[in-house]
Parts: sequence; structure tokens; C-alpha cells
Amino acid sequence: MSLSAPWAQRSFERVLRVLDGGRLGHGLLICGPEKLGKRQLMHALVARLLCSEAGVTQAACGVCRSCRLLAAGTHPDYHDVTLLPNDKGVLKKEIGVDQIRGISQILGLTAQLGGAIVAAVHPADALNRAAANALLKTLEEPQDGRYLLLLTSKPHRLPATVRSRCQRIEMCLPDRDEARQWLQQQHGSGVDVQRALALAEGHPGRADDFLRHGGLALFDSVSRDLLGLARSQLTLSEVCKHWMDEQLAERLAVAVIWIRQQTVDQVRAGKLQSARVAAQYRWAQEANQVRQQLDTPLRSDLLLADLLDQWSKIGEHAGLRG
Ligand SMILES: [Zn+2]
Repeated sequence: MSLSAPWAQRSFERVLRVLDGGRLGHGLLICGPEKLGKRQLMHALVARLLCSEAGVTQAACGVCRSCRLLAAGTHPDYHDVTLLPNDKGVLKKEIGVDQIRGISQILGLTAQLGGAIVAAVHPADALNRAAANALLKTLEEPQDGRYLLLLTSKPHRLPATVRSRCQRIEMCLPDRDEARQWLQQQHGSGVDVQRALALAEGHPGRADDFLRHGGLALFDSVSRDLLGLARSQLTLSEVCKHWMDEQLAERLAVAVIWIRQQTVDQVRAGKLQSARVAAQYRWAQEANQVRQQLDTPLRSDLLLADLLDQWSKIGEHAGLRG
């Protein structure tokens, strides 16, 4: 089994060398930016730790009994700990202490297939305080052939005591050339990969999302609206209605990227005074806040109207390019 992105495959091969060198820890923190393939790396590592036939620095064989049970989702020595649905079928926001107590006990048992026992917690930043404390005890008592994998793109949200007891497996952004080549393989040559990558600030996973979900068209639409508002070619209520009608959260996310890029371009061209730079970055922060408040009882139409009103004042004299 090889991982789909070359940087993920490289990370996996590094981990295999550490494993076969006898240096792989019991608690493993798999981290790095989102959408780079960390989950795939986690699954490949789980399979390799459980596989009974894999050779040195090889991935899981995919055919032994252990590999087949894992693929079927019925491996007795693998335990997946993730967010569970509540009574209404909506995913809870936290991983609770009961879920962690369960794995502490399981890691202390004899493996049913006689090999390793592996538990994976994802996303690990969703562990609540009591759950993280319970996890600490497990991390402090390492045993041979027992592995606890924690997956997160926000490792800073884990208590330092948990982080310091884990071996870190970090996946980093690839360089632009590699990211561009990979995107071209995914989307073909007729697509504006370069532009998607620039909008995603060099992040291939986000650029891939842009290309798959019409992100470039959305970017153009947001850009038209904000420029139209700044130049008084569109009214506040027109833009508000347009954004409220469709993809509000996505539009806000794209607006943040757009204003950041405009600001960087203007600064490079020597066109922007520092007070205006600060105002534009502040507006980007406000837009992010509004996006985070969309799930709260606050009225999103009022939040948006206020945000766009601020924008029309900031953008009026900003010398923006469209
Ligand atoms: Zn196998």
C-alpha cells in the first residue's frame, strides 16, 4: 500500500525506518496542517503495526488475516476512538473520558491475535480535559507491542503533558513544485492549478478543495462583490442578500483570503499606509469571527450587514485591484 501524495508517502517511510530501527514510541502524535494525508498515514501505520507478514521497512501486506480483519473493520486488537453521535444523531464536539478509560483497559489485555494492540484517537484535539487526563495515565505506562496514536491538526490544543509524552510524527507542507505537480496529476492540465495553489497559500490539500468544489468561481464572485461595494457599484443590501442566499460560510472564508492577498499585493506595490494595512487585517479577523459565530444564536444577517458596512468604509479609498 502506498499513500496517495508523495509527501505523505515520505512521512510513512520515515516512520517505518524508525519502527524497524526499534525506536518507535508507544504514544505517537501524528500532526501537521489539515488535508495533507495524515489520516491516510495513520491508517497505513495502524495496518503495519498489526500486520503479521510485513517485512523490514515494508508497508502492511494487505493479505494476512490481520490485514483482512482490519480492512473489514472487525480487527479485535484495533480500537478506533472518535467523536460519537448524540441522541439526535449529531456528532458530539468532544471525546469523553469514558471512551478513553475503555482503551486504557484494552491496551492492558493480551492481544487476541497474538500481535500488537493499537488504539487511535482522532481528532485528538477534541479530547476534553478529563479524557486527556485519563490518557496521561496510559501514556505513562508504556508496554511492548501497545500503541496509542493521536491524530490532530491542532496539537497546541492538547495539554503540554500529553504532547511531551508522545513521539511526534509531523507532516509538513511540500514545496510549491511538488504541490503543483501533484495537483496537475489530480486535475489534469486544463485547470488553473497555479492560481488555486496561490489562493491556498501553497497548501495543496486546500487548493485541491478549491478545484473540486468550485472555489475559483466563488473567489471571483466574492471579489466582484467586495470591489463593487468599495466602488459603490453595488449596494450593501444587494451583497448581503447574495451572501445570505448561498454559501455564506464559504464566502466569508474566501473573503479573508482575498483581503489578505490584496493587502500583500498593495504593500509590495508600496501603495498602502500602515494604518490601512492594520484596518484591512482587522477586517479579515472580523470576517473570521463572523464565520465562527454562524452556528450561534446570533443573527447572521445582522452580523454580515455590519461586517460589509465596515468593509464599504475601509474599501472605499483602498486602491483595490480586481
Ligand atoms: Zn498483513
